[in-house]
Amino acid sequence: MERSLAPGATIGIVGGGQLGRMLSFEAHRLGYRTAVLTGGAKDTPGGRVAEVEVAAGYDDDLALQRFVDLCDVITWEFENVEVGLLEELATLSGVPVRPSGRVIAAAQDRGRERRALMAAGAPVAAFREVSTATELVRAVEELGPPVIAKRARFGYDGRGQVRLTAVDESTARQVVGSLDGERMVVEEVVPFDAEISVIVARGIDGEVAHHGVMENVHVNRILDTTVTPPVSVAPGVTAAALELATAIARHLDLVGVLCVEMFVTGEDLVVNEIAPRPHNSGHCTIEAAPTSQFARQLRAICGLPLGDGACRPAAMVQLLGDLWGRGSARPPDWSAALADPGVHLHLYGKEEVRPGRKMGHITCTDNSPERALERALAARRRLGRGS
Ligand code: AMP
Repeated sequence: MERSLAPGATIGIVGGGQLGRMLSFEAHRLGYRTAVLTGGAKDTPGGRVAEVEVAAGYDDDLALQRFVDLCDVITWEFENVEVGLLEELATLSGVPVRPSGRVIAAAQDRGRERRALMAAGAPVAAFREVSTATELVRAVEELGPPVIAKRARFGYDGRGQVRLTAVDESTARQVVGSLDGERMVVEEVVPFDAEISVIVARGIDGEVAHHGVMENVHVNRILDTTVTPPVSVAPGVTAAALELATAIARHLDLVGVLCVEMFVTGEDLVVNEIAPRPHNSGHCTIEAAPTSQFARQLRAICGLPLGDGACRPAAMVQLLGDLWGRGSARPPDWSAALADPGVHLHLYGKEEVRPGRKMGHITCTDNSPERALERALAARRRLGRGS
């Protein structure tokens, strides 16, 4: 059995965003140190709260070595990174990378992701992998419109996706061009009743744990609200979702945290996406569970017991840059949102406000998910804009 990494050790976090920021908060609580590799940006949400911010590109070999030398274990808050060089340097230096580069590589390419999911026995939507206009036309004919074309790599929050009802060769050329000539996964549109996710953790010793099922609503393909437990999903489906997520984590030999996003249609589940890190839809675990998704990530990669992740009823609403109004002219009224003492406000410390940019979130817990959502939405309305 591998030994656990004791507090005092340094956790390396790849990515400078809010997920790493929240992981640092947890790490500091337990006396660990953190080092953040940002990809180039300075003064990032994650870097600002870490002991060290390495503001260098993911392909800068000298900076990667410097980062590796700082760390006792390396984990991810952002997976759209070329993993090869980093993993190689870490291996040479004897620094474990958790989850492994193999899991990251599977999650960052929709084609590989689909194949890994099928190998794990998980249902996925019918799809084709294409890279030319002619292949795209054939895929749409075979799958039957409407379909969604997604770039295979480096697309997130609905970026790099188009919904197509019919395509001729010239529209297909435009679509292929608009996705920067990247390979694509073209898939059937799933007429889902609900979207759910499971955040599953797996330790070095194979222990598996989750926080139950989250029910998610996306607006413009960006996560807008999460509630737990789900309000519109039958208990049998919830149990099947938990089993599926556990099977995927085991199949991938995961060490760390993995979010499995699924569509629910009637009694059927289809896995849409996996993300090998804490996830937006798990933010409510900070207040709703004794051990949050961030605490779990830390425990899993350090070889500690995974703790109690059971959630009380909770809701999370996302705060996007749109709340600031045009040109950031009117900052949201934080005081009004906090008038309800049960409102937990999280802001990610981002200075540049842009429409669609995730700036923070609000979580409420209550006796039921419906009541928690009502309170969280009311708080967001009091900010002055938004829904
Ligand atoms: P993704 O980037 O794959 O997570 O997609 C973002 C959102 O787009 C999902 O959460 C769904 O709301 C929607 N979406 C993506 N793929 C499909 C699909 N095959 N069928 C229906 N909706 C989809």
